[in-house]
Amino acid sequence: MDLFRDFRNPELVKKLLKAIEREHDGKPLRIMEVCGGHTHAIMKFGLNKLLEPLGIEFLHGPGCPVCVMPKERIDQAIAIARQPNVILTTYGDMMRVPGSESSLIKERAHGRDIRMVYSPLDSVKIALENPDKLVVFFAIGFETTTPMTAALMEVIREQKIKNLLVHVNHVLVIPAMEAVMHESKIEAFIGPGHVSAIIGGKAYVPFVEKYKVPVVISGFEPTDILESVLKIIRQKNNREAKVEIQYTRAVSWEGNTKAQELMAKYFEVRDKFRWRGLGDIPRSGLKLKDEYSQYDAEVYFDPILPKEPIDDHKLCICGEILKGKAKPTDCKIFGTACTPQNPVGACMVSSEGACAAYYKYLRHQLSTV
Ligand code: SF4
Repeated sequence: MDLFRDFRNPELVKKLLKAIEREHDGKPLRIMEVCGGHTHAIMKFGLNKLLEPLGIEFLHGPGCPVCVMPKERIDQAIAIARQPNVILTTYGDMMRVPGSESSLIKERAHGRDIRMVYSPLDSVKIALENPDKLVVFFAIGFETTTPMTAALMEVIREQKIKNLLVHVNHVLVIPAMEAVMHESKIEAFIGPGHVSAIIGGKAYVPFVEKYKVPVVISGFEPTDILESVLKIIRQKNNREAKVEIQYTRAVSWEGNTKAQELMAKYFEVRDKFRWRGLGDIPRSGLKLKDEYSQYDAEVYFDPILPKEPIDDHKLCICGEILKGKAKPTDCKIFGTACTPQNPVGACMVSSEGACAAYYKYLRHQLSTV
């Protein structure tokens, strides 16, 4: 497999575009991607500009785990980090996400012990090196990262580590897809590649049967995404709605059953979870099972954790973007008051956010028109 020969080959891209042009009936077609990686690939390779003249529009859904984390959960991380003798660990993307008044990076500048980790298991080393401190891993992400948090739980229990807790903020992609279906006219989904490697293609079947929209699970290269669009068009032309896997080099129908078992061992679905911009979505988040509550930072720190929902900045339309109702360029402060250096909303902070993708690539697109 060669990246440039097989996936970024201009001749293959042209061929796929011709097929899309030939087979698409020209009517407006709104396709939502629910993975920040796809949003970035679409903008990076200018696929939005290639398909717009054919009436095909990409909507950027709730696929960036940092972007969908509500402010009160960030405030909870900050409240924990402010406790004496606590070391808070989390992924780098979380550091600059604004809470109600502060962010983890600002708290670190004020002397809190907050550390970026590349893997949840890095927290184990930190806990072992600091036996007099309580280490709390602030866990975020879709089903892609949940198995790694479950693996951390395995290690904590096997090694009987007493000074390491987990604050669980893992979310589920399919309930979010359901929530946006009630908000916008979406005619098809490009299914997330990494999440689907874990949950498998079959996980989308009940969704597709209920809403009668195609879901094509796609890879991240230009030919992957264009081939997925072509598969969607073919389903539409055949009046079908089914789950298809374009990204067969990574995703199977069953998914990663070992990872699924590990997740099922430690986590259960919450009745509801609040998403930034989308509000409460039923059965859309995970928590540690009650039998593991001794490792649960939400239980341990319960009395000091802020829980009231907090609104976003009044000019931020991140929520409307995640629902497919707006584009980053519709935001009045996009690229002016809100930039990656000075982010006002979460969609500009994360490397996977739609606003960050537009900021990074749109100027290049405009300069090459
Ligand atoms: S540009 Fe900034 S303020 Fe506007 S929607 Fe995006 S993140 Fe929010």
